[in-house]
Amino acid sequence: MTRILDGRALAARVRARVAAEVAELRARTGRVPGLRVLLLGEHPASLAYVRTKERMAREVGIDGRVERLPSDTTEAALLARLAELDADPAVDGILVQLPLPAHIDTARVLAAIAPGKDVDGFHPLNAGRLAQLAGPPPEDLLVPCTPRGCLLLLEEALGSLEALRGRRALVLGRSTIVGRPMAALLLAHDATVTIAHSRTRELAAECRRAEILVAAVGRPELVRGDWIAPGAVVIDVGINRIPTTDGGSRLVGDVAFAEALGRAAAITPVPGGVGPMTVACLLDNTLRACRARLAGGR
Ligand code: NAD
Repeated sequence: MTRILDGRALAARVRARVAAEVAELRARTGRVPGLRVLLLGEHPASLAYVRTKERMAREVGIDGRVERLPSDTTEAALLARLAELDADPAVDGILVQLPLPAHIDTARVLAAIAPGKDVDGFHPLNAGRLAQLAGPPPEDLLVPCTPRGCLLLLEEALGSLEALRGRRALVLGRSTIVGRPMAALLLAHDATVTIAHSRTRELAAECRRAEILVAAVGRPELVRGDWIAPGAVVIDVGINRIPTTDGGSRLVGDVAFAEALGRAAAITPVPGGVGPMTVACLLDNTLRACRARLAGGR
């Protein structure tokens, strides 16, 4: 029997903890964590994501606000706004929704977010600290939200993070947003980590060796059932919209879910797996950023 890992339920538990801790912080200090989400342009999926982030932030007591900027905003104007938010004491977390329009240098923008307010964890300083970890991440390190969400799902599946020690883990995908930080987190928990990508040879055979398989590729149902080792734990990060025969569409992951059932020990569904965890971890990162700033007297 394959266990289906309920990301919605786990995310609700994370949000409930964050809400309780935000309330405690407010009672003790009078401060409420502040989150600003910057969205350039009209990208429909991005608009839906940022609205969810704002709504969920408010539900846990965080002062979450989306700032919408026109798609032709110049890089200089965006950098100037980031500098203002950096200087604003009421703002603890800053997130620039990706992808950015082509005329903007994404790396330059991400490097301009103050590392202490970088709740997406994409600043080179935070990414570098993650890459150099010699053990589990410290409380003050802002780790990218999706990989952190995956790690919490693995903890749920395995019973503890110690259970990752020595396990063969395969991360499919090497993006700086998901694949690389995921591999760094697994390594920090002593897993034996392989990263596979679009140039990997014999991908199916690589997958079959994995006791832990994290798929973050963006290719609908690329990972077939017989690529999964019996008893493996599968975390499916992919979100792919595919057409249905009735002219509509539906979401599928990077793993052929129905084929994986009966083979994997546990698997995350799409939707309802990793997605809700990403937002919950963003709220937790905002709370952490606020605490760190208060502790540092800012
Ligand atoms: P990306 O396009 O930046 O990276 C994809 C990676 O997959 C690359 O490293 C590439 O080498 C690899 N790849 C592509 N085709 C491959 C193939 N045929 N075989 C092996 N490897 C291949 O994507 P990303 O930003 O890392 O996102 C990956 C997926 O995760 C997307 O579907 C995205 O929508 C989803 N995602 C979900 C969440 C969430 O919260 N659930 C968050 C971020 C991304």
